[in-house]
Amino acid sequence: YYNQDTYIYLDGNFVKATDAGIDLFGQSLHYGYGAFEGLRAYSTHHGTRIFKAEEHFARLQRSCQAIDLPYHWNVPVLIEKSYALLEANNLRSAYIRPLVFSGSNMHLTSAKDAHIMIAAWEWGPYLGQNLLRVCTSEIQRPNPKSFRIEAKVSGQYINAILASSDAIKQGFDEALMLSQDGYIAQASSENLFIEKDFKLYTPPLDHVFPGITRQTVMELCKNLNIEVVEKKLTVQDVHEADSAFLCGTAAEIIGIKEVDGITYREDWEHTIGASVQRKYKKLVLEEENYEVII
Ligand code: PMP
Repeated sequence: YYNQDTYIYLDGNFVKATDAGIDLFGQSLHYGYGAFEGLRAYSTHHGTRIFKAEEHFARLQRSCQAIDLPYHWNVPVLIEKSYALLEANNLRSAYIRPLVFSGSNMHLTSAKDAHIMIAAWEWGPYLGQNLLRVCTSEIQRPNPKSFRIEAKVSGQYINAILASSDAIKQGFDEALMLSQDGYIAQASSENLFIEKDFKLYTPPLDHVFPGITRQTVMELCKNLNIEVVEKKLTVQDVHEADSAFLCGTAAEIIGIKEVDGITYREDWEHTIGASVQRKYKKLVLEEENYEVII
């Protein structure tokens, strides 16, 4: 992720990643009390473009507000600094990781001050490019009544780590997680869509993370005249679907080959997911635009 020449943005300055200190007495390290984002910059023929930067930084602000972590930055400035960071590191395409973390404080009360850092590195599609083998996990998603599941909050990712590492130990690529009501929610850090009889279905927002890529997929489908239904999905719905895919900024759009050992019969290249994947690539590379008609 970094070497001795890597710069990060830290509280208003560009500093060498190797020189940036970390406070060992902060709530973020001890309690996972921080908020973060994941963005991607793409090398387009208009130059380097960060995809949906405003949406991501706005979500960072909302995540901080959801956990009462002070947020005192300005979205356009953070976007400008992110572009400057890419330049400082000579990156044309990259994954960008802003993190808001608390200052010195060991109490279990809201932070009084917070810091921001932004790092960037080259990162291929998070789950690779091959169709995925996934399993339903015994690790459930956090209870929306005990956590702010709509916020991208550091501590919450222990849940994602447990689910995905359990899946990987069993020889799968990724985990599909259920919510407490027993319905499929999403993957450890991606949202899920299934295709059935030429329509897409995705779980509603009450138990899933409001992915920006999920929203983009819905917008692309509106433009492609493909119906998307937000509906609670059972494990059986997922097993009996015609095809399925995961989406997220890091993973982009990636098809699923099999769930719990059950293989989808439809050839991925002929699925709605594959069409959406092609459109998404064109969109992020700014080879094609779309009209937001939602
Ligand atoms: N679910 C979780 C839990 C996530 O952390 C993420 C982001 N990595 C996603 C879904 C996908 O969100 P986005 O499309 O905004 O990257």
